[in-house]
Amino acid sequence: MAASPQSQLPAVDVEARLDALVRQERDELFGREPDCECTQNDADLLDARGCELHDPNSSYNVRLRALTAVERLEAYPPVVGEPTECPF
Ligand SMILES: [Zn+2]
Repeated sequence: MAASPQSQLPAVDVEARLDALVRQERDELFGREPDCECTQNDADLLDARGCELHDPNSSYNVRLRALTAVERLEAYPPVVGEPTECPF
């Protein structure tokens, strides 16, 4: 008698796991903000390239954007429900 493949998978609470991941990511990102490493290349012109805190492409900012996107989704989850009936 062959068991169905699904029965061998452990039950995983995906939502709880995601929650924990988001909380962990938030703690890490807000727990230790990177130091500013901008270089001054003119009297009052700062170059943010390579600065973990201000370069939009730094890993810190990429992770921060991802976290913000996830939190926005959690605040406004996509509406799942009955499709509205067509009046025609
Ligand atoms: Zn900076």
